[in-house]
Amino acid sequence: MCDDKDKPTTSKEKNKNNEESNQETEYTKDCLGEEDSTMEAMRKFFAQNLNLNTAQDEDDCTGKKLIDDLTFEGLCEHWKTKGFKNIITMVGAGISTSAGIPDFRSPGSGLYDNLQKYNLPHPSAIFESHYFEQNPKPFFALAKELYPGSFNPTPSHYFVRLLHEKGLLLRHYTQNIDTLERVAGVPDEKLVEAHGTFYTNHCMGCDMQYSMEWMKDQIFSDKLPTCTNCKSVVKPDIVFFGENLPDKFYTLPGKDFNKCDLLIIMGTSLEVQPFASLVDRAGRRCLRLLINRTKVGGNDHGGLGYWFFGGPGLMFDSPNNTRDIAYVGDCDDGVWALVGALGWTDELSHLIKTENERLAKENAVQRQRKEKDKQSS
Ligand SMILES: [Zn+2]
Repeated sequence: MCDDKDKPTTSKEKNKNNEESNQETEYTKDCLGEEDSTMEAMRKFFAQNLNLNTAQDEDDCTGKKLIDDLTFEGLCEHWKTKGFKNIITMVGAGISTSAGIPDFRSPGSGLYDNLQKYNLPHPSAIFESHYFEQNPKPFFALAKELYPGSFNPTPSHYFVRLLHEKGLLLRHYTQNIDTLERVAGVPDEKLVEAHGTFYTNHCMGCDMQYSMEWMKDQIFSDKLPTCTNCKSVVKPDIVFFGENLPDKFYTLPGKDFNKCDLLIIMGTSLEVQPFASLVDRAGRRCLRLLINRTKVGGNDHGGLGYWFFGGPGLMFDSPNNTRDIAYVGDCDDGVWALVGALGWTDELSHLIKTENERLAKENAVQRQRKEKDKQSS
């Protein structure tokens, strides 16, 4: 009863008018049974009103695997023979660790563990806007250690760039603030930097914008970045606790995730909301590949969590899994395995080599220019 042909609406037709959305509710009821459909309707109500609507609502119930062989090898084979058109990548700190950037959350190696020297009331205070307003110095001391530009992108970053060059990248959603996607050459319009970026900076008083280069000079000369216009502190556009995520994070998923036919999730524990709930916005016809050291992303929030955060999450080992595949290992290893299977190894190697050479040259030129500036001043 839940075959494709029985579907009353497709995702594209959805929300055209009320009549169709009523049809959809009826259809959902048929498929889920009375009690579940009430739950589903309530969840949908919350999801829609919180702008967390999940594309999967539209055409599920097929219960059929999207590809016969739901394994990493099966996915690679499908990619080679059938291809994908609109790929979304969704990433976290795990894609940057091999660049030498500390992971925020890993005990021992994690950033929070290295914050003791700043005498903060609690570690996360360094990213709280009200603490920053009173005492911005610890943040800038830390920023100096972490500053983008001191690191090269990883093979995982260059893989995203390669997807873009092949015309396959619909969008790249990142939780990272290290700007390595930009350094790797992923263009601005393909990027959603969900937790902000060091790339742009704004005055906290008059909102004047400052460049990354300006901010870098201030931070590395141990000056408190101060607005030339109003003397307030200038802050990188990274999202502090209690601040809104960038507009793009709210406007683009609604368009992107309906179109997406492959979602690649890399190097994230999928614990930070609302970012983690993006996985549930991918329509039922979208395969989801997780490349991570552990299988994550199942929704164990239960009850309200399920409603608010949009859906059941990744289903790897569930008998109901129709489309989720995990590669358990480091991101770069997963990427090399993937490009190996697709016959893209040489292309990725070449891209990494030429881009890293270009970056080394650029850095050398910048160093020379700074030394000249120093001598002349
Ligand atoms: Zn100002």
